[in-house]
Amino acid sequence: MTETPTHTLNDGHSIPAIGFGTYPLKGHEGRDAVHSALDNGYRLLDSATNYENEGVVGRALRDFLTESGVSRDAITVQSKLAGRHHGYESALQAGYESVTRLGLDRLDVLLIHWPNPIEDKYREAWRALVELQQRGLVRSIGVSNFTAEHLANIIEDSGVTPAINQIELHPYFNQASMRAEHQRLGILTESWSPLGKRSAPFDEPPVADAAAAHGVTPAQTILRWQVQIGSTPLPKSSTPSRQAENLDVFGFELTDAEVAAISSLTKADGRLFNGDPDTHQEM
Ligand code: NDP
Repeated sequence: MTETPTHTLNDGHSIPAIGFGTYPLKGHEGRDAVHSALDNGYRLLDSATNYENEGVVGRALRDFLTESGVSRDAITVQSKLAGRHHGYESALQAGYESVTRLGLDRLDVLLIHWPNPIEDKYREAWRALVELQQRGLVRSIGVSNFTAEHLANIIEDSGVTPAINQIELHPYFNQASMRAEHQRLGILTESWSPLGKRSAPFDEPPVADAAAAHGVTPAQTILRWQVQIGSTPLPKSSTPSRQAENLDVFGFELTDAEVAAISSLTKADGRLFNGDPDTHQEM
C-alpha cells in the first residue's frame, strides 16, 4: 500500500491526509476496532468527549504502541470539546479531562465540536483552546461545524486562526464555498461522514464509473475524491478489511472530469440530518 501523505497545518505541525473516524465505536468492540485501524496503518484517530470513547481510543493506542514499537509521535490523536463545556474555565478543565481519559501527556489536536451559536459561548471556548495550546497540553487547535461567520468571529476575538475545521462533507454535500473560505484563511478542511454514511452514493454513475475505470471500490473512489478536492476524510469502519480498503487511496488518481462529475452530485439540501450549524446545537 502507498504511504499516507501528510498536510502541514498553519501552525507548522503536520497531519496525515486521511484519518480514522471512531464514532460510535466504544467498549471492547471499540477498542478492537481502533486497534485494528492502527494495525492497518491509520495514523490519525478522530475521537470526541461526546463519543464516550476517549478511554478505549487511548487504551487501543497505548497497547498498539507497546506491541508495535511505533513511536507516539507517529500518531495524531484528535478529540473534541463538548458543547456543555464552552465556558472558559469549564473548557480548560475539559481539555485536561480529555487528555487524562485518553491516558496521554498531550493531545495532538483539540477541536470545538459544534459552535452552538444560540448559547453563543464559542468565542470563550476558543480562547480556552488557545490557552491550552500555550500551556502545551494541546499541540494544534481547531473547530468543527463552524460557518464562515463563526470563523470570522473567533479570529477577530482572539487573533488566532484555527488550524482545522471539520465539517460535513460528502458527494451529496460538497461544501464548495466553505472549502474556498478555508483556503483563503489557511485552514485545513476535514470531512465527517466522508462516505455519506447511510446514504452513501456508491451506485451513482459518476462514482460507479470512476471505480470501474480505476479498478477500485466505490468507497475508495469517494475517499480519493475527498483527497483530490483537498480535504482530509475520516471514514469509520468496524470491519478490518474495509478499514484497509479505505486507507488504500493513494495509489491511483481520478481525472479532473471524474472529480467534477462526483462533485456535481451535490445538493442544496444534501446534509445527512438537519445539522445546520446555525441552528443545530449539541451539548
Ligand atoms: P462514514 O461516511 O465514515 O460512513 C460510515 C459507514 O460506512 C459505516 O456504516 C461503515 O460500516 C460503512 N463503510 C465504511 N467503509 C466502507 C466501505 N469500504 N464499503 C462499504 N461501507 C463502508 O460516516 P460516519 O458518520 O461514521 O463519519 C465518520 C467519522 O466522522 C465519525 O466516526 C466521526 O469520527 C466523524 N464525525 C464527526 C462529526 C462532527 O460533528 N464533527 C459528526 C459525524 C461524524 P462498517 O462500520 O460496518 O464497516
